[in-house]
Amino acid sequence: MDPDQIDHDLKAVLISEDQIQAKIRELAAAVEKDYDGRDVLLVGVLKGAVMVMADFARALDRHVEMDWVAYSSYGSGTQSSGVVRILKDLDTDITGRDVLIVEDIIDTGLTLSWLVANLRSRGAASVEICTLLRKPEAVKMAVSVKYVGFDIPDEFVVGYGLDYGEKYRNLRCVGTLAPHVYSDAG
Ligand code: 5GP
Repeated sequence: MDPDQIDHDLKAVLISEDQIQAKIRELAAAVEKDYDGRDVLLVGVLKGAVMVMADFARALDRHVEMDWVAYSSYGSGTQSSGVVRILKDLDTDITGRDVLIVEDIIDTGLTLSWLVANLRSRGAASVEICTLLRKPEAVKMAVSVKYVGFDIPDEFVVGYGLDYGEKYRNLRCVGTLAPHVYSDAG
């Protein structure tokens, strides 16, 4: 086995590449139907949502605009802190716009609730959320999530945009890491 091989570090594949792509097509079809005749601004949350955004936007058979926000809330560990620091704000004026936030994963939803409130306060006509993955804690969120790809167990996952110490974002599937990865990291 080649130790440089990225999937050598996986304990299990939770969601395969095919399952992800099929689900993204499903989500895109639902969004197309719901936003028929309306302009949508897709807002991706960097860096994790890069892969979802790229595939989701291309699965939409219509014009969309894309913008990005970045905030820090996680560091390189595996626990959500809920502390929000804006690293990159939107470039777009969202007054009167229909905004669809595109997310990779919702855990506690703390950061996302803050983002939704923030975008609403800027006068967006609507703010909805589309996430590929959702963990059980997220059901306690005050804001509702309109589009959910997969509900997953409360485990730390990597791949398809999701990192551990900035690695594994380029995996095509979503999986859990083998124990040796955490012990090697010290
Ligand atoms: P929340 O505020 O919902 O608790 O945390 C959201 C952010 O935490 C996600 O956008 C993601 O960056 C990170 N996160 C939450 N769960 C996981 C996970 O299982 N794996 C990885 N890599 N990041 C996660």
